[in-house]
Amino acid sequence: MKRKDDGADVAAEIARERQQAVAKAKRVLVKVGSSIVTADGKGLNTRAVNRIAEDIAHAVSGGHEILLVSSGAVAAGTSRLLLARRPCTIPEKQAAAAVGQSGLIQAWERAFARHGLKVGQVLLTSDDLGNRRRFLNARHTLLTLLGLGVVPVINENDTVVVEEIKFGDNDHLAALVTNLIEARLLIFLTDTEGLYDRDPRKHSRPRLIPLVRRIDPGLETLADEPLSGSVGTGGIASKIAAARKSGHFGVPCVVASGRLRRCVSRVLDGEPIGTLFLPHEAPLRSRKHWIAFTRQPQGSLQVDAGAVAALRDRGKSLLPSGVARVTGRFGAGDLVQIVDPEGKEFARGLVEYASNEVDKIKGLRTTEIEATLGYKATDEVVHRDDLVLL
Ligand code: GLU
Repeated sequence: MKRKDDGADVAAEIARERQQAVAKAKRVLVKVGSSIVTADGKGLNTRAVNRIAEDIAHAVSGGHEILLVSSGAVAAGTSRLLLARRPCTIPEKQAAAAVGQSGLIQAWERAFARHGLKVGQVLLTSDDLGNRRRFLNARHTLLTLLGLGVVPVINENDTVVVEEIKFGDNDHLAALVTNLIEARLLIFLTDTEGLYDRDPRKHSRPRLIPLVRRIDPGLETLADEPLSGSVGTGGIASKIAAARKSGHFGVPCVVASGRLRRCVSRVLDGEPIGTLFLPHEAPLRSRKHWIAFTRQPQGSLQVDAGAVAALRDRGKSLLPSGVARVTGRFGAGDLVQIVDPEGKEFARGLVEYASNEVDKIKGLRTTEIEATLGYKATDEVVHRDDLVLL
């Protein structure tokens, strides 16, 4: 009897924490996976699209601002082009995405129109968001769409990206978009019920974890391998990685089944469905989050033990004297990794000097910069305001 009561207490505490986490979420980002919007790789599942649009329209009528990240372009294009399997090469995927994206947006447009809502198609690349000016510009566009009562439907601009500037998968894209639009909740509608305590494909009676208070490395071992060759690209592992990134921006994240009726509305009502990942207690501000996760590092600076302590424990900027080694080619303003004497990355930042300049001034005192380079931009190699500890 006692144990049963304990169980009820725990469940009630979890329900309370979950309710608190979603209570203030007015602006919500919903990410829908390819496995939900396409019918087992055989074209678009318009019933699912209609069901989700109805659910989102209901949330919008209740005062929420909803943005959608929708996968499915490659899967839809694969079927429209009558290809036997999901394409493997990048140009083939891009061709399939070009054909599939138009069908995807049409399906969302028709589905939302039934509820009097308009959609706006927004296609992004990692390069767009890595450029601060374009990032802010995209933010203004998205916020303007929301102001007009439009539901933005976002996807990666698959046709123009090459491997180096790809987000990788739409889970990562969604995590970055939470910062872009300052969302207060991220919901993944996926083909699993959430995170289980063991891989449901390998073990019987796995238990769903309703609440994750902290994403520690052990959690990732519970996650599956991405299912290569399947309809989408992410798996639960990429959802956890995305929850970690959005959590660093203070945004809670729910992973739930996209096959559940009214899933979004029910999550917003505080129903404990799926898994909710609580955000980090000390979130990064928008610009620092952008530095940490959105930009791609162009090189790295290895620093000495004194500089590690100054940066990590004393909140200092990185000065030339602390830099031991420069790797890669970068220009002033680029993002660099900052690694400790063992080569482990512990910070990232925007660098004030180009790689060849840092190479010349590394190990020197700030008073020696001008005599060495013939000019001095700043005393710091990476200013504290442009630096994030990881
Ligand atoms: N952008 C891809 C598409 O629309 C999806 C990538 C992913 O599955 O995460 O097909």
